[in-house]
Amino acid sequence: MNKRNMIRLIVQGISLVLFTLIMLSGKMVLWLALYAVAVGSSFIFGRYFCSYVCPMNSTMTIANKMRNKKQHKIIDMKFANIIPFVSLVISLGIMMVSKKRFEIDIPLLLIYVPLSFVYALFFSSSIWHNYLCPYSIALKLGGAHSIYHYKVDEQSCIGCKQCLKSCQVGAITFNSESKKAIISPTLCHECGDCVASCKVGAISYTKN
Ligand code: SF4
Ligand code: SF4
Repeated sequence: MNKRNMIRLIVQGISLVLFTLIMLSGKMVLWLALYAVAVGSSFIFGRYFCSYVCPMNSTMTIANKMRNKKQHKIIDMKFANIIPFVSLVISLGIMMVSKKRFEIDIPLLLIYVPLSFVYALFFSSSIWHNYLCPYSIALKLGGAHSIYHYKVDEQSCIGCKQCLKSCQVGAITFNSESKKAIISPTLCHECGDCVASCKVGAISYTKN
């Protein structure tokens, strides 16, 4: 395990403990404040929250390890981009109905975290990250406009496609005309796994 992965694992562990403590204390507003900071800073540093802090991603990583399966599938459909909005509306609907009809405040993450774990045991986690997770909507916006993000240097890339295999969230595509890899800052979780997979050092975290 390289140093970056070790740091990520430690941060994920601390974040999971923090998330559990906040949940137990019932002060969900604290987690929402953390999420708001993550969204704001994603315009500078990209979607690092997804790979380092998000409890859904942490549990899905465990599920993927249990499945022993790499996940890097992309749905190439125009309408797929509206799915997170549908997911958000359904989530808000569940919250409103449970509050009005049953006077119960449902912290949605308490549903989404176990749901994402079970989902990742059977399906591609990249589809969850990119098209099902309602929390990804704002983070994608930040990622797309981020000042810093992982990038492929076209001059150095030899088109070997190794980085495509290493990306668990389907953020890397291959341009068949230029024969170069391309990283989508909208989908990238800033985990850095692709850096180690590139033998010619074509990938780096750099200013836009
Ligand atoms: S691993 Fe490096 S050289 Fe190979 S396709 Fe990806 S960026 Fe290009
Ligand atoms: S493109 Fe690289 S840094 Fe971004 S999520 Fe994929 S593996 Fe991680």
